[in-house]
Amino acid sequence: MAEKIYTIPVNEAFEASRDDPAKGCPFCALEHMLEENELESILGASMMEPDIRIRTNDLGFCREHLAKMLERSKKLPLALILESHLDEQEKLFKKAPLRSAAANAQAEEERILALTSSCYVCEKVRFHFEKMLDTAIYLFGEDHSFREKFAAQPSFCLPHYAALLGRASRSLSKKEFADFYEEAEKVERPYFDSLREDVRWFVKKFDYRYQDEPWNNAKDAVERAIRFLQG
Ligand SMILES: [Zn+2]
Ligand SMILES: [Zn+2]
Repeated sequence: MAEKIYTIPVNEAFEASRDDPAKGCPFCALEHMLEENELESILGASMMEPDIRIRTNDLGFCREHLAKMLERSKKLPLALILESHLDEQEKLFKKAPLRSAAANAQAEEERILALTSSCYVCEKVRFHFEKMLDTAIYLFGEDHSFREKFAAQPSFCLPHYAALLGRASRSLSKKEFADFYEEAEKVERPYFDSLREDVRWFVKKFDYRYQDEPWNNAKDAVERAIRFLQG
């Protein structure tokens, strides 16, 4: 069940976050890696592959990924992808001759909304990321050393914690899930409580009565709270 191409990176991300808690959620690192790989490949090796071109022509890219592609400043490959994508999307403006202007405009609105909410990179990342979540859930039940790594995680960000619970609750047996849920909460709750404490202390430090007190763990509490909330 656990495919090797996922087992290795999942183990590595869990080891990295275990060894350096500042790295935070291991799934954020995995998602970032998938995104980087996808951007690298779309602007490089797979740019000219016909079946990939069909997908990018059809799905396009979200704003965030267009911006990231532009940042990489590989303008020519990006221009080639956009050239054929725009050619393909000429169909957005097609009108049905017997329909009213309003009906044509609304059909156009629907097609444009569908296009602007789809993204080739997001879709590819989502596909592999779900397999990585499943791999982590599988390894938790099958591999004792992974279970130890799981228990030693600093925390999971909320979106990835929710994804983990959702997928595990749908794929594990009742008994297996109860065990998984308990262990996942042992990672998540203490971090949540300490984060609240750190943000509270951060606020207090702005009060002159506390200004000579140590920062403890609060210096980066705002940044960590943001990462925890949105990944
Ligand atoms: Zn995360
Ligand atoms: Zn995207």
